[in-house]
Amino acid sequence: MVPAPLPSRTVVVLGASYGGARAARILSQSLPPDWRLVVIDRNSHMNHVYVFPRFTILPKHAPKAYIPYTNHLITPPPLDKSSASSPASSPESDLPTPPRTPSSTSLALSDDEEDDSRRTWIQGSVTSMTSHSVTFTRPCRRRDLSDSSASFASAHSHTTTGTFDGPDETIYFDYAVYALGSGMPDPVNVWSEHPNMPSGIVFDHHEHGLGTKKCGVRWMQKKAQQLKKAQRIVIVGGGALGIQFATDLKDVYPNKEVTLLHSRMRFMPHYPVAMHTAIVEGLDRLGVNVVLGERVVTWPNEPEHLGLPKILRTDKGRQFEADLVLPCTGQKPHVSIMASLSPSTISPITSRIRVHPTMQVSNGPVRPVGPRANTLERLSNLSLHAPPTPPASNRGSSDTSASENDDEDDLSHVFAVGDCAETGAIQAGHTAYWQAEVAARNIIRLIERQEGRAKEELENYKPGPPAIKVSLGLKTAVTANGDEVKVSHEGVEDLQALIMWPSLNAQDLDVNA
Ligand SMILES: Cc1cc2nc3c(=O)[nH]c(=O)nc-3n(C[C@H](O)[C@H](O)[C@H](O)COP(=O)(O)OP(=O)(O)OC[C@H]3O[C@@H](n4cnc5c(N)ncnc54)[C@H](O)[C@@H]3O)c2cc1C
Repeated sequence: MVPAPLPSRTVVVLGASYGGARAARILSQSLPPDWRLVVIDRNSHMNHVYVFPRFTILPKHAPKAYIPYTNHLITPPPLDKSSASSPASSPESDLPTPPRTPSSTSLALSDDEEDDSRRTWIQGSVTSMTSHSVTFTRPCRRRDLSDSSASFASAHSHTTTGTFDGPDETIYFDYAVYALGSGMPDPVNVWSEHPNMPSGIVFDHHEHGLGTKKCGVRWMQKKAQQLKKAQRIVIVGGGALGIQFATDLKDVYPNKEVTLLHSRMRFMPHYPVAMHTAIVEGLDRLGVNVVLGERVVTWPNEPEHLGLPKILRTDKGRQFEADLVLPCTGQKPHVSIMASLSPSTISPITSRIRVHPTMQVSNGPVRPVGPRANTLERLSNLSLHAPPTPPASNRGSSDTSASENDDEDDLSHVFAVGDCAETGAIQAGHTAYWQAEVAARNIIRLIERQEGRAKEELENYKPGPPAIKVSLGLKTAVTANGDEVKVSHEGVEDLQALIMWPSLNAQDLDVNA
């Protein structure tokens, strides 16, 4: 039998959530035998953030929000042409049901196989990158603390201490998928440096192991205690998160006084007006106080810290008093690592990474294609950057042998997907997923070109019409898909979180799994 060639080229995927995990899965299946895949994420489990607001109110479901990465990478068959060449269909019309990671029961891997020489999954915090290398730190495992040899262990362990204090490690790559997403608003930010807890409730991330399932579940349990204790809650920001928090809180605790403050006159303005109407009706039915068209100008010092009453003032001169304030405003894209590599990759308008429709990173403005491409971005793009060139890199990438790229400006071998990428599409799990598919297939095409096996054109990502589902309490939800708006009443408490799990063993739901 001829031994399999040792991998000499590397594709890295940075961030393994809705976007990165999908790219990793396709690449693990399609990369040629002499290529290896390295996936790095700071979390030990995929954080299914859609359900975070609900589960911080009903924490009995919390373990379902942290999906094991086991089985996310699959055994590569001989090069899978169908995967690399399937049409650029973007079945966004079937959404907003969250895209399900395809079942992998027939493709199950042992833990060892997930960490073989061709596919490596690392729990680590990415700290910097150059055009052909990425540097990261792994968390130190508990047991390593008492071990003087302090070997720094690898992926998805619930025993990590939460301190990412391993030595800096650098991996050289030929292609990269940058999928570091965006930071979450404070009330659902399990990675918050200073989680605000009610007085008397202490929460030490490091004690629980930041980035682990155990930490996430404990954090949700503590948040739930806090929400239960507060009688008057003001939620600032009428996006999906604010609406879901307000309606869930009122549904579970009808006697609480819940106020939703929104700076605009309309909820979800990117969607048909029927969506706004359904949301207003849902809030009204549950008894949420709704304040539209007022912007908060004075915030309390520690909005989420139960204790002294919190005072808020709006630009209309009104004052609100609460026990707890939940700031549910905007998410900031995680672009600092890309910005350090090349500041011109960041759009000054949206603060996201400029990408070509092929999802290749661009060092300058790109013509926006999505329905949300705004006028300012269009104006800033009057002078368009050159189209992407094929990757310059054509050399091996072992951790020690590769040198830095000669052409720092060429980032056509780096792809960005999901919340951190500027595509004109809405920031959503399903858009990240479809963008990741395009990026992964294009990497395979570029490799095939580079190796002289095929010359297929790269595929373009085409954003579909905005689609979203917003729950309005435990049973009701409103869905917008293009022009269609539907209200349904079949909701379940756990929001069917397990749909997202590629495979399920009972022990996976254990807090420590
Ligand atoms: C409360 C809430 C509810 C939502 N509900 C929906 C919904 O119902 N439907 C929908 O379509 N969208 C929903 N969204 C939006 C959706 O979650 C995002 O658009 C989606 O998460 C984007 O996916 P992503 O892969 O680009 O990034 P993310 O999901 O943000 O993932 C980024 C990954 O990168 C990792 N990472 C970040 N920095 C580092 C680092 N330095 N080192 C290593 N790893 C790092 C993170 O751990 C994470 O795994 C919701 C968002 C929120 C906050």
